[in-house]
Amino acid sequence: MRDTFPLLDKVPFPAIRRGKLETLQVNVGYRCNQSCFHCHVNAGPNRTEEMSSETVDVVLDFIAGRKIATLDITGGAPELNPHFRRLVREARKCGAHVMDRCNLTILDQPGQEDTAEFLAGERVEIVASMPCYLQDNVERQRGKGVFDASIRGLKRLNALGYGRGGGLMLNLVYNPQGPSLPPPQASLEADYKRVLGEQYDIVFDKLFVFANMPIQRFGSTLVTRGEFDGYIDLLREAHLDANLGGVMCRNLISVDWRGFVYDCDFNQMLDLPFTRGARERTHLRDLVDDDIDGNPIRVAGHCYGCTAGQGSSCGGALKEAAE
Ligand code: SF4
Ligand code: SF4
Repeated sequence: MRDTFPLLDKVPFPAIRRGKLETLQVNVGYRCNQSCFHCHVNAGPNRTEEMSSETVDVVLDFIAGRKIATLDITGGAPELNPHFRRLVREARKCGAHVMDRCNLTILDQPGQEDTAEFLAGERVEIVASMPCYLQDNVERQRGKGVFDASIRGLKRLNALGYGRGGGLMLNLVYNPQGPSLPPPQASLEADYKRVLGEQYDIVFDKLFVFANMPIQRFGSTLVTRGEFDGYIDLLREAHLDANLGGVMCRNLISVDWRGFVYDCDFNQMLDLPFTRGARERTHLRDLVDDDIDGNPIRVAGHCYGCTAGQGSSCGGALKEAAE
């Protein structure tokens, strides 16, 4: 796989700084039951990186000590980490809102039979990948059988009360199939709701629309196909300064499976560590008593993936631009 960072590092991006820390996004490991083409984590069944019980303790200390409002758990398939449920339970006891970036198909896997019930019991918000409402498109990107398994997962979540307005939030995630900008979030959400409702009797709360990041497997494929520069140009031409205020790195830090900190999940995947003083890398335990408001954010050409057009953040299109 080609490393796209040397190319991205040559692309200038406006300087931005952190605001108030609200969300801790924790990547608990790269193991996944799927290996999707666009995956910016390069996750898959053979990855072995996994957050340890000791590092989960550091995460929980940080949430309690800093009174973090939201814990956003990602992977891989986060549910495969053996400490996942303890992390969720203890974070909930601290009063944090917990989000699980769930791929839906995991809910069908051996050993995960009661995961959906567990998530509902802990009132965990589910953010689920569903790159299209059409079977062919989903399976081209995510593999054969993924669409049916995803529909089964959604039906199961609906049966538990998810997506029905009772507080169990079920949000879906769309990203384009290739090197293009995503369509407007509001109209695509309406299409998703109509098709999934009419054809499968499925309901959900919101659709989050993301641009693909020119990193990892997707970025490498762009380089191989000679499409990398064209995609960066597309993102740069669509950049809006107004989106700079809403990018997720202003209010979030991303933590890797070892406990090291990054400005966002994408920087984590590029191995661009959070910079603080003279430290080359910062561990989460070093930040428990450190106020990082105003800290400069590590930016490069991939950041245009967050600011192009309607923008992309961990909650989909940035509000102002999406309306
Ligand atoms: S399900 Fe998610 S984490 Fe797993 S390979 Fe696909 S995109 Fe990556
Ligand atoms: S990729 Fe997006 S979230 Fe990450 S540092 Fe760049 S602008 Fe911020």
